[in-house]
Amino acid sequence: MESHSSVAHRWIRFSLLVGLVTLAVKVVAYGISNSAAILGDVAESVVHIGAVAFSLYSAHLAAKPADKSHLYGHAKIVFFAAGVEGMLVMSAAILTVVNAVWTFTQGAELGQWQLGLLLSLAAGGANGLWGLWLWRKGKKASNYLLAAHGEHLMADGWTSLGAAIGLILAGMTGWRGWDALAACLVGLHVLWSGFNLVRSSVGGLMDRAEPEVNERVVAILHAEGERLGFTWHRLRHRPLGESYWVDVHLLFEDEMTLREAHRRATELERALRRELGEGTELSTHLEPRKDHERQHPSQLK
Ligand SMILES: [Zn+2]
Ligand SMILES: [Zn+2]
Ligand SMILES: [Zn+2]
Repeated sequence: MESHSSVAHRWIRFSLLVGLVTLAVKVVAYGISNSAAILGDVAESVVHIGAVAFSLYSAHLAAKPADKSHLYGHAKIVFFAAGVEGMLVMSAAILTVVNAVWTFTQGAELGQWQLGLLLSLAAGGANGLWGLWLWRKGKKASNYLLAAHGEHLMADGWTSLGAAIGLILAGMTGWRGWDALAACLVGLHVLWSGFNLVRSSVGGLMDRAEPEVNERVVAILHAEGERLGFTWHRLRHRPLGESYWVDVHLLFEDEMTLREAHRRATELERALRRELGEGTELSTHLEPRKDHERQHPSQLK
């Protein structure tokens, strides 16, 4: 069976192709119209394509199994990559704003803005619709990666629309300031998405616990604990990009054989994998309930 994430990666690879075609159309639109807002949209597309290619590459690296020098595997690299991407996105945003202000103060004329407008609307619309389709597909398959990618593409579609509105106003009123203003808004939007990337990167590298994930893990521990007859404490979990590393102490009846306790812990591991992704790892500390307090009382709660 093909895994969840490799299906998503195939769609995202195809998405890269769609991105390159729409980027080419946007570059032509900029060349014709000389619009700062469309240039901002171009910058956002370049950054986006770079980010997607980079994240596919880092996902490929992350999938490499653990080795002698990386005993916990290579999953964390996706967060490092997201941080680098985020900083690139933020610099593209700042350049967009600087360029908008500069062209405005230079008083450069707009070119054939109507044709540029049509092209950029076509490219932006195609991106947005493609994103909507991927987002729906991701939601239906509850594939986080695909849904997030689709959502980003839809946001890019709105960015293109914003640039187009600025260009229409500038073209009709003859005041170049509208175009510069739209470019600045596009720049701010891109800056915000770059900032979010950096934030999620830091969160991932610092093992920030996501409350929503915590709820899911606790729900499974409760359900499986009831079914398999264990209680638990000292729960910890850390994100691995597309899955999680869960670490918990399980308390069984003192008389239970180690063999049986291990079988039940393995069932818990399967349940966690079903919920949190194939790559999820579980480390457990198996403990006899009555003897536990004597062994390490400080670890309770
Ligand atoms: Zn983007
Ligand atoms: Zn314990
Ligand atoms: Zn085992």
